[in-house]
Amino acid sequence: MADTPYDAVIIGSGFAGLSTAALLAQRGSRVLLIEKSGRLGGRAGFIEQDGYVWQYGQHSHRLAGDGIAARVFDKLGDPIDFIDTRGNTAYLYFDGKLFPRPEGPMDFLRTPLLPLTARLDFLLFYRRLLREDPNAWYDSTLLDFYRKRGRNPWVERFLGFLGFTVMVADPARVSAGEVIQFLQRAAKAPVKQGEPRGGSKQLIDKLEAAIRRHGGEIHAPERVERVLVEQGAAVGVKTNHACYRATSVVYAAPLPGLFDVMPKSLFQASFVDYATHIRPSRGVSIDFVFDEPVTNMTGGILGVDIPLWVKFQSHIDPTIAPPGKCVNTWAMLLDPDAPATHEQADAVEARIRQIMEDILPGSMRKIVRKRRLILPVVNANMLIPRQSYPHRPPIVCPEVNHLFFIGDTVQSEGCSGDIAFSSALRLAELL
Ligand SMILES: Cc1cc2nc3c(=O)[nH]c(=O)nc-3n(C[C@H](O)[C@H](O)[C@H](O)COP(=O)(O)OP(=O)(O)OC[C@H]3O[C@@H](n4cnc5c(N)ncnc54)[C@H](O)[C@@H]3O)c2cc1C
Repeated sequence: MADTPYDAVIIGSGFAGLSTAALLAQRGSRVLLIEKSGRLGGRAGFIEQDGYVWQYGQHSHRLAGDGIAARVFDKLGDPIDFIDTRGNTAYLYFDGKLFPRPEGPMDFLRTPLLPLTARLDFLLFYRRLLREDPNAWYDSTLLDFYRKRGRNPWVERFLGFLGFTVMVADPARVSAGEVIQFLQRAAKAPVKQGEPRGGSKQLIDKLEAAIRRHGGEIHAPERVERVLVEQGAAVGVKTNHACYRATSVVYAAPLPGLFDVMPKSLFQASFVDYATHIRPSRGVSIDFVFDEPVTNMTGGILGVDIPLWVKFQSHIDPTIAPPGKCVNTWAMLLDPDAPATHEQADAVEARIRQIMEDILPGSMRKIVRKRRLILPVVNANMLIPRQSYPHRPPIVCPEVNHLFFIGDTVQSEGCSGDIAFSSALRLAELL
């Protein structure tokens, strides 16, 4: 056992673990962050190669400077440098066509996406979403919420887009409370989506620098094999290299992996059952590289009736590719009921190529390089009613003292990476 005890040992270097380590180290706590892979960042990690910054997946940050991720960096005194995307038109892909994306109520009134009566119905519905208390609706789906008062089939088709804002594109699955909660925050924010210059690399580099600047330690690659528990309290960890004692142990990875390092018998059966059955979203992401721009679009595309998202990455941020190369990232969620297989990914890629050819004719012939990622976990916790905010496990473990959970499967505010960031902020306040 190493003889220097730490104030906190943190298992996992995703957004949650890195943020917590940085915030605690800044306060003078002695922290040790342990990451099993050789790369920091978890699902937001990246590699630099041949002049490219290849992200594991392209990441944007909801509400930019007014969003949850930004709060972490503001607290650290090193704000995120977001690219100024004002003036970039974003698009929706609906019924096989592209439409400028409505950004507010007046845009919805004018959009040719929906017939006029559906636009009015949609606006009434949107106003209702902004007035409702999300707490009353976490256990309902968005479709059920809509059908309490409305029955317009056009509006129903459009609900997928609202669900997709929290990464569950199916209105019959997504928790209405989660959508309401996000849209209410979004309505007040001038910028809906923030693109950090240099991608996630900027955030991960800043967090790593903050940890080291304040004397925190990072061990990677090193795998935690066991959380050490004595008399009902977590007292440290055993890794493949050593044992480390700590006052607090923070598990900063998706909860289904907890039982690889702790026996289930330490926890309530209901928690074990929940944590082992958390449903993630899955997807496929493809980076296409071109020697010339194949479009002048900069604002990205979101699917309404298919869970597609497209970013013309190097158009908005040339620093992620070598001079003269254009990187476009096309991604789609997979059926959450089926495992992420190569066959599924092949089918998704064929669909993406077909849409790409429709929208950008001739672009397929110009692809000079491709990188395809099959993503078994995009969001570790799909925001369906049973996994919505009130049902997620708390940050403070009730059964084992001095043990804490953070990351995108726990009870904290936001969706996707924002849950990881907000859980880190809350834990840093608690410890
Ligand atoms: C393609 C893609 C695109 C996405 N886009 C967005 C987006 O635009 N906006 C957004 O907000 N979110 C997005 N997300 C989701 C976001 O990436 C995640 O919500 C967030 O990164 C989760 O961070 P985390 O810290 O909770 O967990 P993770 O990133 O999963 O980190 C957990 C870490 O723990 C480590 N670990 C696990 N077990 C051990 C152990 N025993 N010992 C040591 N280390 C261990 C893992 O190696 C990993 O590095 C996207 C995800 C993907 C995959």
